[in-house]
Amino acid sequence: MPLPTPRIEIDLPKIEANTRTIVAMCHRAGVNEVIGVTKGTLAHPGVARAMLAGRATGLADARLRNLARLREEGFTAPLTLLRLPSLSQVDEVVRLADRSLNSEPETLRALSRAAVAAGRTHGVTLMVELGDRREGMPPEEVVETARLVAGLPGLELVGLGTNLTCYGAVIPSPANVGRLVELAETVRHEVGRPVPVVSGGNSSSLKLVMDGKLPRGVTELRIGDALMRGHETAYGELIPGTTDETFTVVAEVVEVREKPSLPDGEMGHDAFWNVPIFTDRGIRRRAILALGRQDVAPDNLAPLDQGMIVLGASSDHLLVDVSDAAGPVRLGDEVRFLPSYAGILQAMTSPYVDQLVVGDNSIHPKLAGGASR
Ligand SMILES: *Cc1c(COP(=O)(O)O)cnc(C)c1O
Repeated sequence: MPLPTPRIEIDLPKIEANTRTIVAMCHRAGVNEVIGVTKGTLAHPGVARAMLAGRATGLADARLRNLARLREEGFTAPLTLLRLPSLSQVDEVVRLADRSLNSEPETLRALSRAAVAAGRTHGVTLMVELGDRREGMPPEEVVETARLVAGLPGLELVGLGTNLTCYGAVIPSPANVGRLVELAETVRHEVGRPVPVVSGGNSSSLKLVMDGKLPRGVTELRIGDALMRGHETAYGELIPGTTDETFTVVAEVVEVREKPSLPDGEMGHDAFWNVPIFTDRGIRRRAILALGRQDVAPDNLAPLDQGMIVLGASSDHLLVDVSDAAGPVRLGDEVRFLPSYAGILQAMTSPYVDQLVVGDNSIHPKLAGGASR
């Protein structure tokens, strides 16, 4: 029986090998903890296991549901909540996560009450905003907030952290990451507490590690994308010794015909209210694939056959120019793509894309029965 399409194939040994390589590189830079970030796969248990097998020292996710999935799967590694806790969910945060990243004093007080009520100690990493303009407090507030945490029952000040290159596209540098290391030193002196963890960012900080420029004193990085796809994300360079051929999106050809590359008729907007622009390449061989924006946005897919050109997509149809494909493309053929990080996230989220763990050969259908595609 043919495998179902569309599907995303996940190569766990390659993710494990990527993790091992990146962890070793981080160790050489003095970073003794690499936390495996699972949100890109909705905390797929196989991916989480591969990260831990590759020597990640804990797991982290932005969503409580994903942490709950890891707990249900029996993971005992320390779990970190990456997104700032919602005031309305502090009880679940304390129950599901060993540690959370925080920036709001009011949330910290609520977490303290929840931890005391649950009879637990909850770890806190204080997030410092160092230019990317997403989460975090300004450096001037760090000492007083660290004092607050030190005085709140049920909470333990684990460390300081920062996040870069997510909103403002700001690249980690010896200056901004170095500032975090200095702030941790200031807290140690002024608050008189150990600050064991200095969490120096995400996959974009790996470029500093590769170049030997990561400031000494960073003890932890929180890494998702690079473990999954081998790339640091400041410049998108492949990390030596890793591979990006870990996730593959596969879709089936439902039409192949010669068509003019320009539309014919008066033009308005497309199905998504964009006014499209076309390149006249003359008459071209065009394949329609049974995959659409409801599964993965076309910009997030790179054909493995580099002669193919992704032209565009509507909700359920992906158009690919196959005139210069390496081999013939026929009706019923499967076409393979490497998804970007966003593409992996979308494919993993779509209920229409089945998941195949390579080598395991069991399909995990998203919809009941798997037949309703
Ligand atoms: C998503 C996220 C990460 C991991 O980012 P990658 O680019 O996947 O490595 C780390 N920290 C925080 C706070 C995040 O939200």
